[in-house]
Amino acid sequence: MRVAMIGTGYVGLVSGACFSDFGHEVVCVDKDAAKIDRLKRGEIPIYEPGLDSLVAENVKAGRLSFTTSLADAVPDADAVFIAVGTPSRRGDGYADLSYVFAAAEEIAHALRGYTVVVTKSTVPVGTNREVMRRIRAASPDADFDVASNPEFLREGAAIEDFKRPDRIVVGADSDRARELMRALYRPLYLNETPMVMTSPETAEVIKYAANAFLATKITFINEVANLCEKVGANVQEVARGIGLDGRIGSKFLHAGPGYGGSCFPKDTLALVRTAQDVGSPLRIVETVVSVNDARKKEMAEKVIAACGGSVEGKSIAVLGVTFKPNTDDMREAPSLDIIPALQAAGATIRAHDPEGMEEAGKLLEGVSWCDGPYHAMENADATVIITEWNAYRALDLPRIARMMRGTVFVDLRNIYKPSEAEAAGLSYTGIGRGKAP
Ligand code: NAD
Repeated sequence: MRVAMIGTGYVGLVSGACFSDFGHEVVCVDKDAAKIDRLKRGEIPIYEPGLDSLVAENVKAGRLSFTTSLADAVPDADAVFIAVGTPSRRGDGYADLSYVFAAAEEIAHALRGYTVVVTKSTVPVGTNREVMRRIRAASPDADFDVASNPEFLREGAAIEDFKRPDRIVVGADSDRARELMRALYRPLYLNETPMVMTSPETAEVIKYAANAFLATKITFINEVANLCEKVGANVQEVARGIGLDGRIGSKFLHAGPGYGGSCFPKDTLALVRTAQDVGSPLRIVETVVSVNDARKKEMAEKVIAACGGSVEGKSIAVLGVTFKPNTDDMREAPSLDIIPALQAAGATIRAHDPEGMEEAGKLLEGVSWCDGPYHAMENADATVIITEWNAYRALDLPRIARMMRGTVFVDLRNIYKPSEAEAAGLSYTGIGRGKAP
């Protein structure tokens, strides 16, 4: 089948590369000419493990190509995916749908023959029907259907998630569109991936409900972590103790500095707005949003407290700035709250991240970027681990204690055991691991 992927970002590029790997013929489109130039030269504009070889193999096989011209890619396609951004609208938290509607209208003028226009971007309920209406208005004679096909991949594990998803959700009104979507994903039937066939509205709600539920799980364990600190309990053992219950499940129960990233913050907020608009508020999700916002700010306070109440004039090493490991994505990363708050309190920051420093450099001012974790920790008064990259999971703690000026070691991901850090001579602060009385 022939696929046009409109928007070649984290989702579009991974989805396009994976569809081509399934054997489909894929053209990835982006209006960012610099991005398309890089891809044509064989460079990958984002960091995602395994993506470089997947793209290279499929380009070589002639199944994957890149263009800035939507008008060239759409006419021959059986399915046209919209995978453009849907960021938070500045000021009010609604999803900004201007990129989706702009793409839909451009697509409308380029349609030839029966085509399914598939919304992969995360869009509020009602958007697919609005996309349908806009295409029909722009191109009354076009032969098309619209389908919602929300994406659930995680950055950092995106290829595996795309190729072995827990489920595929398709929201479509017509049998013809459903058949085409089934054919597109047929290679996954071999893995017996369940396909949830439903209406566009239900598919739209599934995506937001899934993200809101996961964000709630994280926020729940983060609040339990605070409680554990107060009462001398251990949140990791609590998480294991509750996660072994099949009704709860062990995933997304890692206490940390609060969720960030390109999806949870904007999607929870957009869902809250939709629910308020229709008079059916989601009060749990509203609370999750405000608890998480506050938590990211509280993390700087935690570091300051670990430093004895002041970081004025202190040098702090920060390890990891991306919102999670194995990505260079900095969107809504907790580091963007923590680092400026420490700077405002008088600290100087020396930081390292395996893949995120280029992106972070555009968003954070006054940070000295270092060649490696040990370089960052040289003569530091305190070290803070914000992101749990593999490179920080087996640090030589005695060496750190020798090379730092101070001893404060704040581990916002609970990578290390307090006892081993303390045995090495560090003053350890983790998350939710209170000392029993
Ligand atoms: P992104 O910002 O990385 O990529 C979007 C791309 O679309 C950009 O390269 C932009 O230049 C391009 N674009 C915008 N308008 C265009 C147009 N009219 N024609 C051609 N290209 C255009 O965004 P992303 O992270 O890939 O997210 C895309 C969508 O997928 C969002 O709705 C997001 O919520 C959703 N999503 C993201 C993830 C994730 O992990 N990043 C996971 C699931 C769902």
